Amino acid sequence: MKNTVHGIHHVTCIAGDPQENLDFYVGVMGLRLVKKSVNQDAPDTYHLFYADAVGNPGTDLTFFPWPLMEPARLGVGLTVEVPFGVPVGSFDFWRKRFDAHNVKYDAEEIRFGEKTLPFRDPHGLPLALVETDAARDFVTWDDSPIPSAYQLRGMHAVRLWERMLAPTAKLLTEHLGFEYIGEENGWHRFGVDGGGSGKWVEVQAMPSERRGAWGTGGVHHVAWRVRDDEEEFAVRRQVESAGLSPTPQIDRFWFRSVYFKEPGGVLFELATDGPGFDRDENMEHLGEQLILPPWLEPHRAQIEAMLPKLEMPRVRA
Ligand code: ZN
Repeated sequence: MKNTVHGIHHVTCIAGDPQENLDFYVGVMGLRLVKKSVNQDAPDTYHLFYADAVGNPGTDLTFFPWPLMEPARLGVGLTVEVPFGVPVGSFDFWRKRFDAHNVKYDAEEIRFGEKTLPFRDPHGLPLALVETDAARDFVTWDDSPIPSAYQLRGMHAVRLWERMLAPTAKLLTEHLGFEYIGEENGWHRFGVDGGGSGKWVEVQAMPSERRGAWGTGGVHHVAWRVRDDEEEFAVRRQVESAGLSPTPQIDRFWFRSVYFKEPGGVLFELATDGPGFDRDENMEHLGEQLILPPWLEPHRAQIEAMLPKLEMPRVRA
């Protein structure tokens, strides 16, 4: 296969209250708010982007805060957990921080040989920390409340529940460029570009589990990296040849996107590595102002009037 994806670009989730979301991801987890924008399809809703200091692809967890939505219903056809990489030896720091901020976490596990600490965000989103010293595209954020030695290095993997393994496995390996790595405790791991932190997807088949549904505390979609438009169009054709129905390319201004549902129903996206979050803001001031894509700028006054006020986090240290 000539054209493949190159790991996780971003993961987009649904949150409840936007201020609680911001307080947690910046104030407790120490990510940088690299873009404060709106849902381009529903501009009365924020779209908040949290990442490393510069918004490297692979570090970016984004949210649509929809406080009136029902909680997500865990089930097949959904991403059910988003693990993040942290440096080896970080867990004592993180457990103390979680205790200090009333963050619920589970017992440490070993997954595929790596120490893993599962936890949840304030709206119930299943997350985990995985200790890894793998090299990542990552830039330390100096204004983070988290010392650089413990900062989140980006998404390590995504975990999906599916009714059946085979159709999703076929798409991953025959059309997106993943290799099958192996199985552990019912989780099937696939890696792309040789695998590594940020390049894993893990799938569990749950034949008798009900279908999942989007809601607060759930994952909306997973975006996979492609280098540029040419590669995006090529991978899009491979997705079409798998019998799926990808959208046309959509300009998201900071990257360009194609969306499709994989055979088990999880919403996937292809997203280009560029142009990047500094296209419309100085790198030093990312996230400070509400940024609208050019085609929404004429409606700024109405949009700002519909959005709830947001203050930078009250939770620190
Ligand atoms: Zn996306």
